[in-house]
Amino acid sequence: MTSTYKMYINGKWVSASDNDTFEVYNPANSQLLAYVAKGTRNDVHTAIDAAREAFDSGVWSSKTPGERSTLLWKLAELVEKNSLQLAKLESQNVGKTIKYARDSDLPFIIDNLKFFAGAARMLTGLSSADYSGLGTSFLRREPVGVVGSIIPWNYPLYIAIWKLAPALAAGNTLVLKPASYTPLTLLEFTRLVEKIIPKGVFNVVTGPGEIIGSEIASSKKVDMISLTGDTKTGKKIMQLASNNVKKVHLELGGKAPLIVMSDADLDMAAKGATVGAFWNTGQDCTAVTRVYVHKKYEKKLISLILNEMRKIRLGDPLNENTDMGPLISARQRDNVANHIRSGIDEGAELVCGGQRPSGKQFENGYYIVPALFRNVQQKMKICQEEIFGPVLSVSTYEKIDEAIEKANDVDYGLAASVYGKDITTAIKIANKLRFGTVWINEHGALTSETPHGGFKQSGFGKDLSIYSLEEYTNLKHVYIDQTGLARKPWHYTVYGKQ
Ligand code: NAD
Repeated sequence: MTSTYKMYINGKWVSASDNDTFEVYNPANSQLLAYVAKGTRNDVHTAIDAAREAFDSGVWSSKTPGERSTLLWKLAELVEKNSLQLAKLESQNVGKTIKYARDSDLPFIIDNLKFFAGAARMLTGLSSADYSGLGTSFLRREPVGVVGSIIPWNYPLYIAIWKLAPALAAGNTLVLKPASYTPLTLLEFTRLVEKIIPKGVFNVVTGPGEIIGSEIASSKKVDMISLTGDTKTGKKIMQLASNNVKKVHLELGGKAPLIVMSDADLDMAAKGATVGAFWNTGQDCTAVTRVYVHKKYEKKLISLILNEMRKIRLGDPLNENTDMGPLISARQRDNVANHIRSGIDEGAELVCGGQRPSGKQFENGYYIVPALFRNVQQKMKICQEEIFGPVLSVSTYEKIDEAIEKANDVDYGLAASVYGKDITTAIKIANKLRFGTVWINEHGALTSETPHGGFKQSGFGKDLSIYSLEEYTNLKHVYIDQTGLARKPWHYTVYGKQ
């Protein structure tokens, strides 16, 4: 029987105020997975009011960091106990392989919750001192208040955790909105939250982005909005957030380059490019999309990449032998197919892939065979636009400065990588790349301790790490006068003791 999911508002599971629902499908076979409550503007208002009241009452923010830490750790342990079921559901709902969901997403989710459980106890102001000579200053990090978090479909639970763990660790309350394609794991996770977190602190509203997301982003009762999504959505959110000048944190699109230096181990670079381009079916904001290689080594590199690509097994995401599943939707598959067509029309050479795979097992899923292009020119759409699918392009350079210039020549600035043996040169290249993360001889490594976030139109603010915890706080300066004088001359307050 198909399951039905309600929303979680103010500690209760509720249907939409008009009882409407929407359908959620498995992208590997188009089978109906669930009916989910299609929230209304009224439902958003109820959730925001609950989060507001919970914040203002101090039910969460006045707990000591140690108390919040203990509860977050318990939550991590509950996720650990349920991790296999969550991984299976994520695999079915997103179409990502079970190997990837079980061995990468879920362990990272648990590690993240544990990291922020610990980090909750590490919030400190930078320093305290008598800067003016007339009084003492101290700095406090305080929760921002009610945080709205809007989640994409490519890493539904994983990215929700990136947002909710630091927000809760810092003492905020939350209204979360998952993507409509993939709300299921966040809702299952909420069943675990329900056992641990006080009512009103954590609310989930499901439904269309244009209604639920925009209502959260524009609400005057919400103090901060945190989005991971498309750059176009980020621009809309910024406008809506201006309604009450709320704090904004945006993790947006990417178009990651991989620069192959002339002394690089080409085999290593080919493996890095292939895994980096095609994991999660290329639906990854940090996915390798553009390889820049010296023209002398292009042929060799392409043949090595082709060897790697031949090993990728498309299939049922729940099968242990599958390396690549479908795209999330027919719409996404058409978008990828249109980009592939535009690459061909603009004169790039499609070396392989790009078609729908044949075979009965693929008939009802949104599959595309991984594609490789060469002769890709910088101004082509496939080189400039985020495709968000399994498409990799290779371009050549003659001098390394040209590769750096081309790598930087896109609107995005999320992640990049450099492959080469001369580490001094690799570091010099990394320093010139305008991307929030640059990996050397690697593409894609993320840890709970290291910040993740973009430059340029990839957004601003950091997920992961202690910097993300800071995002979810406001810094306050408290000053205590020590002169005892009721009124002071002007110059005292401005220049201190003179
Ligand atoms: P999307 O922008 O379409 O949707 C993201 C979320 O925003 C969804 O929950 C959606 O319902 C909501 N939304 C859509 N329109 C809205 C509106 N007008 N107002 C408020 N909310 C709205 O993105 P997507 O297709 O779900 O995800 C893919 C995008 O996310 C890609 O661009 C990808 O690069 C980006 N992404 C970025 C990162 C990062 O860390 N920078 C990570 C993952 C994905």
